[in-house]
Amino acid sequence: MLPIWPDPVTLKTTAIPLACYPYSSTSRIVHWLTRHHGKVSTLLKGALRPRSLFLGEYELFGTSELLYFAKRTGTLYTGKECALLHPRPTFRTDWRAMQTASCITALFNKNTPEEAPCPELFELFEELLDLAEEYGNSFPFLVWAELRFCDHHGHAPNFGSCTLCGAASMLAFSAASGGTVCSSCSKDKKLATLGSPPDILTILQSWQQAVHPAGIVNIKLSAKQKNQLSTLLGCFMRHHFGTSPETRRMEKNLT
Ligand SMILES: [Zn+2]
Repeated sequence: MLPIWPDPVTLKTTAIPLACYPYSSTSRIVHWLTRHHGKVSTLLKGALRPRSLFLGEYELFGTSELLYFAKRTGTLYTGKECALLHPRPTFRTDWRAMQTASCITALFNKNTPEEAPCPELFELFEELLDLAEEYGNSFPFLVWAELRFCDHHGHAPNFGSCTLCGAASMLAFSAASGGTVCSSCSKDKKLATLGSPPDILTILQSWQQAVHPAGIVNIKLSAKQKNQLSTLLGCFMRHHFGTSPETRRMEKNLT
Protein backbone atom coordinates (compact mmCIF):
# COMPACT_ATOMS: atom_id res chain seq x y z
CA MET A 1 0.00 0.00 0.00
CA LEU A 2 1.09 3.54 -0.68
CA PRO A 3 1.39 6.16 2.11
CA ILE A 4 -1.98 7.30 3.45
CA TRP A 5 -1.06 11.00 3.56
CA PRO A 6 0.93 11.99 0.49
CA ASP A 7 2.81 15.26 0.68
CA PRO A 8 1.09 18.30 -0.92
CA VAL A 9 3.10 18.12 -4.12
CA THR A 10 1.74 14.69 -5.00
CA LEU A 11 -1.74 13.46 -5.88
CA LYS A 12 -3.07 10.03 -5.02
CA THR A 13 -5.99 8.32 -6.69
CA THR A 14 -7.32 4.97 -7.82
CA ALA A 15 -6.72 4.51 -11.54
CA ILE A 16 -7.02 2.08 -14.46
CA PRO A 17 -4.77 2.36 -17.54
CA LEU A 18 -6.54 3.34 -20.77
CA ALA A 19 -3.43 2.98 -22.95
CA CYS A 20 0.32 2.53 -22.51
CA TYR A 21 3.03 3.69 -24.94
CA PRO A 22 6.81 3.44 -24.97
CA TYR A 23 8.54 6.78 -24.28
CA SER A 24 12.11 5.51 -24.31
CA SER A 25 13.73 2.10 -23.92
CA THR A 26 12.99 2.15 -20.17
CA SER A 27 10.16 4.69 -19.69
CA ARG A 28 6.46 4.49 -20.43
CA ILE A 29 3.62 6.93 -20.99
CA VAL A 30 0.40 5.70 -19.42
CA HIS A 31 -3.01 7.31 -19.94
CA TRP A 32 -5.25 6.52 -16.97
CA LEU A 33 -8.85 6.92 -16.06
CA THR A 34 -8.69 8.00 -12.42
CA ARG A 35 -11.43 8.05 -9.84
CA HIS A 36 -10.87 11.64 -8.73
CA HIS A 37 -9.14 13.53 -11.53
CA GLY A 38 -10.67 12.13 -14.73
CA LYS A 39 -8.31 11.09 -17.50
CA VAL A 40 -4.66 11.90 -16.79
CA SER A 41 -1.45 11.09 -18.64
CA THR A 42 1.71 10.21 -16.77
CA LEU A 43 5.31 9.61 -17.66
CA LEU A 44 6.60 6.63 -15.69
CA LYS A 45 10.34 7.20 -15.71
CA GLY A 46 12.40 4.03 -15.72
CA ALA A 47 9.24 1.91 -15.52
CA LEU A 48 10.99 -1.01 -17.19
CA ARG A 49 14.13 -0.98 -15.08
CA PRO A 50 14.51 -4.10 -12.91
CA ARG A 51 14.19 -2.21 -9.62
CA SER A 52 11.50 0.21 -10.74
CA LEU A 53 8.71 0.98 -8.26
CA PHE A 54 6.29 0.63 -11.16
CA LEU A 55 7.30 -2.86 -12.23
CA GLY A 56 4.31 -5.23 -11.95
CA GLU A 57 2.29 -2.50 -10.23
CA TYR A 58 0.13 -1.48 -13.19
CA GLU A 59 -1.34 -3.34 -16.15
CA LEU A 60 -4.11 -2.91 -18.69
CA PHE A 61 -7.58 -3.61 -17.21
CA GLY A 62 -6.19 -3.65 -13.65
CA THR A 63 -6.98 -1.14 -10.90
CA SER A 64 -3.96 0.49 -9.25
CA GLU A 65 -3.41 3.13 -6.64
CA LEU A 66 -1.43 5.84 -8.38
CA LEU A 67 0.74 8.52 -6.85
CA TYR A 68 1.98 11.30 -9.14
CA PHE A 69 3.48 14.75 -8.90
CA ALA A 70 0.89 17.54 -9.10
CA LYS A 71 3.09 19.73 -11.31
CA ARG A 72 2.64 19.08 -15.00
CA THR A 73 5.07 19.35 -17.90
CA GLY A 74 2.96 20.06 -20.98
CA THR A 75 0.20 17.48 -20.87
CA LEU A 76 2.23 14.98 -18.87
CA TYR A 77 2.42 14.37 -15.15
CA THR A 78 5.34 12.46 -13.70
CA GLY A 79 4.38 9.30 -11.87
CA LYS A 80 5.92 8.75 -8.43
CA GLU A 81 4.84 5.19 -7.68
CA CYS A 82 1.87 2.90 -7.94
CA ALA A 83 0.47 -0.26 -6.38
CA LEU A 84 -1.65 -2.82 -8.20
CA LEU A 85 -4.82 -3.33 -6.16
CA HIS A 86 -6.98 -5.48 -8.43
CA PRO A 87 -5.31 -7.11 -11.44
CA ARG A 88 -8.32 -8.86 -13.15
CA PRO A 89 -6.32 -11.96 -14.15
CA THR A 90 -9.09 -13.47 -16.32
CA PHE A 91 -8.01 -11.25 -19.19
CA ARG A 92 -4.63 -13.02 -19.31
CA THR A 93 -6.19 -16.40 -20.04
CA ASP A 94 -9.55 -15.71 -21.70
CA TRP A 95 -8.71 -13.98 -24.98
CA ARG A 96 -12.36 -13.40 -25.93
CA ALA A 97 -13.03 -11.62 -22.64
CA MET A 98 -9.75 -9.73 -23.14
CA GLN A 99 -10.90 -8.48 -26.55
CA THR A 100 -14.15 -7.28 -25.02
CA ALA A 101 -12.22 -5.52 -22.24
CA SER A 102 -10.05 -3.89 -24.95
CA CYS A 103 -13.13 -2.62 -26.79
CA ILE A 104 -14.58 -1.18 -23.58
CA THR A 105 -11.24 0.43 -22.70
CA ALA A 106 -10.90 1.95 -26.19
CA LEU A 107 -14.41 3.39 -25.88
CA PHE A 108 -13.57 5.11 -22.59
CA ASN A 109 -10.19 6.28 -23.88
CA LYS A 110 -11.62 7.86 -27.02
CA ASN A 111 -14.55 9.57 -25.33
CA THR A 112 -13.05 10.92 -22.12
CA PRO A 113 -11.46 14.38 -22.21
CA GLU A 114 -8.29 14.96 -20.17
CA GLU A 115 -8.84 16.12 -16.59
CA ALA A 116 -12.61 16.31 -16.43
CA PRO A 117 -13.23 14.66 -13.05
CA CYS A 118 -16.17 12.25 -13.15
CA PRO A 119 -16.11 9.57 -10.42
CA GLU A 120 -19.29 7.99 -11.86
CA LEU A 121 -17.51 7.37 -15.15
CA PHE A 122 -14.66 5.65 -13.32
CA GLU A 123 -17.16 3.52 -11.39
CA LEU A 124 -18.87 2.51 -14.64
CA PHE A 125 -15.49 1.55 -16.15
CA GLU A 126 -14.62 -0.58 -13.11
CA GLU A 127 -18.03 -2.21 -13.08
CA LEU A 128 -17.90 -3.07 -16.79
CA LEU A 129 -14.39 -4.56 -16.47
CA ASP A 130 -15.46 -6.62 -13.43
CA LEU A 131 -18.46 -7.95 -15.34
CA ALA A 132 -16.35 -8.57 -18.46
CA GLU A 133 -14.23 -11.01 -16.46
CA GLU A 134 -17.32 -13.15 -16.05
CA TYR A 135 -19.37 -12.41 -19.16
CA GLY A 136 -16.91 -10.83 -21.59
CA ASN A 137 -16.78 -13.79 -23.98
CA SER A 138 -20.46 -13.29 -24.82
CA PHE A 139 -21.70 -11.12 -27.68
CA PRO A 140 -24.81 -9.86 -25.80
CA PHE A 141 -22.54 -8.63 -23.00
CA LEU A 142 -20.57 -6.32 -25.30
CA VAL A 143 -23.81 -4.90 -26.73
CA TRP A 144 -25.16 -4.45 -23.20
CA ALA A 145 -21.95 -2.72 -22.09
CA GLU A 146 -22.11 -0.34 -25.06
CA LEU A 147 -25.72 0.48 -24.26
CA ARG A 148 -24.73 1.23 -20.64
CA PHE A 149 -22.01 3.54 -21.92
CA CYS A 150 -24.51 5.37 -24.19
CA ASP A 151 -26.91 5.72 -21.30
CA HIS A 152 -24.20 7.18 -19.05
CA HIS A 153 -23.41 9.79 -21.71
CA GLY A 154 -27.07 10.74 -22.11
CA HIS A 155 -27.17 9.20 -25.60
CA ALA A 156 -29.32 6.15 -24.91
CA PRO A 157 -30.66 5.16 -28.35
CA ASN A 158 -34.41 4.97 -28.70
CA PHE A 159 -35.67 1.64 -30.05
CA GLY A 160 -39.40 1.67 -29.30
CA SER A 161 -40.96 4.69 -31.00
CA CYS A 162 -40.22 7.42 -33.50
CA THR A 163 -37.58 9.70 -31.99
CA LEU A 164 -39.13 12.69 -33.80
CA CYS A 165 -42.93 12.25 -33.51
CA GLY A 166 -43.44 9.37 -31.07
CA ALA A 167 -45.25 7.08 -33.53
CA ALA A 168 -44.85 3.40 -32.60
CA SER A 169 -45.11 1.66 -35.96
CA MET A 170 -43.26 1.48 -39.29
CA LEU A 171 -39.94 2.12 -37.55
CA ALA A 172 -36.45 2.10 -39.00
CA PHE A 173 -33.17 3.02 -37.31
CA SER A 174 -31.45 6.32 -37.94
CA ALA A 175 -28.11 6.66 -36.12
CA ALA A 176 -27.97 10.42 -36.73
CA SER A 177 -31.45 10.93 -35.21
CA GLY A 178 -30.52 8.98 -32.09
CA GLY A 179 -32.76 5.97 -32.65
CA THR A 180 -35.79 4.73 -34.51
CA VAL A 181 -37.83 7.00 -36.76
CA CYS A 182 -41.18 6.31 -38.44
CA SER A 183 -41.48 6.00 -42.21
CA SER A 184 -43.22 9.37 -42.67
CA CYS A 185 -40.61 11.28 -40.59
CA SER A 186 -37.75 9.58 -42.41
CA LYS A 187 -39.37 10.47 -45.76
CA ASP A 188 -40.11 14.09 -44.75
CA LYS A 189 -36.63 14.71 -43.41
CA LYS A 190 -34.84 12.51 -45.98
CA LEU A 191 -33.11 10.52 -43.24
CA ALA A 192 -30.71 7.69 -43.95
CA THR A 193 -32.08 4.63 -42.19
CA LEU A 194 -31.02 1.03 -41.66
CA GLY A 195 -33.28 -1.96 -42.13
CA SER A 196 -34.58 -2.62 -38.62
CA PRO A 197 -36.60 -5.82 -38.20
CA PRO A 198 -38.98 -5.61 -35.20
CA ASP A 199 -37.31 -8.61 -33.47
CA ILE A 200 -33.95 -6.78 -33.50
CA LEU A 201 -35.46 -3.59 -32.06
CA THR A 202 -37.24 -5.63 -29.37
CA ILE A 203 -33.98 -7.39 -28.41
CA LEU A 204 -32.10 -4.08 -28.16
CA GLN A 205 -34.87 -2.50 -26.14
CA SER A 206 -34.95 -5.36 -23.65
CA TRP A 207 -31.14 -5.49 -23.31
CA GLN A 208 -31.12 -1.74 -22.75
CA GLN A 209 -33.51 -2.23 -19.84
CA ALA A 210 -31.58 -5.17 -18.30
CA VAL A 211 -29.93 -3.97 -15.09
CA HIS A 212 -27.47 -6.91 -15.07
CA PRO A 213 -26.07 -8.96 -17.98
CA ALA A 214 -26.60 -12.39 -16.31
CA GLY A 215 -30.08 -12.73 -17.78
CA ILE A 216 -29.10 -11.97 -21.37
CA VAL A 217 -25.68 -13.51 -21.99
CA ASN A 218 -27.03 -16.99 -22.77
CA ILE A 219 -29.69 -15.86 -25.22
CA LYS A 220 -29.26 -17.80 -28.46
CA LEU A 221 -29.19 -15.62 -31.55
CA SER A 222 -29.07 -16.64 -35.19
CA ALA A 223 -26.04 -15.51 -37.21
CA LYS A 224 -28.35 -13.16 -39.08
CA GLN A 225 -29.67 -11.57 -35.88
CA LYS A 226 -26.14 -11.16 -34.55
CA ASN A 227 -25.17 -9.46 -37.78
CA GLN A 228 -28.14 -7.12 -37.74
CA LEU A 229 -27.61 -6.18 -34.08
CA SER A 230 -23.96 -5.54 -34.78
CA THR A 231 -24.63 -3.39 -37.85
CA LEU A 232 -27.28 -1.32 -36.16
CA LEU A 233 -25.47 -0.60 -32.90
CA GLY A 234 -22.13 -0.34 -34.72
CA CYS A 235 -23.52 2.45 -36.86
CA PHE A 236 -24.83 4.28 -33.78
CA MET A 237 -21.55 3.89 -31.85
CA ARG A 238 -19.52 5.08 -34.83
CA HIS A 239 -21.74 8.12 -35.31
CA HIS A 240 -21.84 9.24 -31.66
CA PHE A 241 -18.64 7.84 -30.12
CA GLY A 242 -16.25 7.34 -33.03
CA THR A 243 -15.73 3.61 -32.43
CA SER A 244 -13.70 1.82 -35.06
CA PRO A 245 -14.99 -0.98 -37.32
CA GLU A 246 -12.44 -3.21 -35.54
CA THR A 247 -14.89 -3.53 -32.67
CA ARG A 248 -17.40 -5.08 -35.02
CA ARG A 249 -14.89 -7.48 -36.53
CA MET A 250 -13.87 -8.89 -33.15
CA GLU A 251 -17.52 -9.46 -32.25
CA LYS A 252 -17.56 -12.45 -34.61
CA ASN A 253 -15.37 -14.28 -32.09
CA LEU A 254 -17.83 -13.82 -29.25
CA THR A 255 -20.35 -16.52 -28.41
ZN1 LIG B 1 -42.16 10.04 -36.80
